[in-house]
Amino acid sequence: MGGFNRTKDLLIIIPAYNEEKNIEKLLDNLESPEIMEIADVLIMNDASSDETNWIVKERGHNIVTHVFNLGYGSALQLGYKFAIRRGYRYVIQMDADGQHDVCNVTSLFKELTTKDESGEYPDIVLGSRFMEGSSPYKAPLAKKIAWGFFRTLIYWATKRKIVDPTTGLQGLSRRAIIFYSKYNHFDDQYPDANMIMQMLLLGFRIREIPAVMHARTEGVSMHSGLKPIVYMFRMTFSILAVWIGVKFMKRDRDVASARDYTEERE
Ligand code: UDP
Ligand code: MG
Repeated sequence: MGGFNRTKDLLIIIPAYNEEKNIEKLLDNLESPEIMEIADVLIMNDASSDETNWIVKERGHNIVTHVFNLGYGSALQLGYKFAIRRGYRYVIQMDADGQHDVCNVTSLFKELTTKDESGEYPDIVLGSRFMEGSSPYKAPLAKKIAWGFFRTLIYWATKRKIVDPTTGLQGLSRRAIIFYSKYNHFDDQYPDANMIMQMLLLGFRIREIPAVMHARTEGVSMHSGLKPIVYMFRMTFSILAVWIGVKFMKRDRDVASARDYTEERE
């Protein structure tokens, strides 16, 4: 991994699994002067069996390829490690399927680098589908019910209203990236509302801003077929496990008090 010169503060991490039909267009959009001026791009190729790998290589972006298909969470987590090792201060993560419009990059970055009234920067900024100013987003009723349920669980445990706790579009500060890149701090399959619950309980600062999103048009979603039903159970248990772990078993309590979690401590 030597010989790498980081010139930007921001790394855009894009997990990609068999996205040959989508990734070219996404990279076209990302390669605009205003984004390239502030960000480097890392594609986490999760052992795609299609042309994803070659498309990215040809265009000269950073790419890391998994040996096996390890899942969305692992792809992100290895990306975080990459970002930490290379000294990036911020990460924006987005899907490779074109769901997350590239216009969100500048708005997330702006939010990450803006202090709130008490002079604090956020640790995590969520790109929300359901706020005033978000683009209209169509979803089946079952999904809406699931989102409402997760929203309620989070509110009940943390008293925070997170409108879109399952959004994959997020901006992260270095503190959040360092925390997530540690063993057992991040769900290596489906990091989702469970991680938002965890970070809120641990005292990380989370903000939410409206985002522009589209529906996937090509390729297959990881939540296709009957998987959402299993997912619902898995996520509910995971959210509860996080709640019990942090609240009653005092897991990672050191982190909550160590607000200065700014450098890697191996
Ligand atoms: N993905 C991945 N590994 C997998 C499944 C998905 O890296 O095993 C990537 C996928 O290419 C996409 C992102 O993770 O860029 C989110 O997946 P998807 O869009 O299918 O999920 P959804 O948006 O439907 O929740
Ligand atoms: Mg997607």
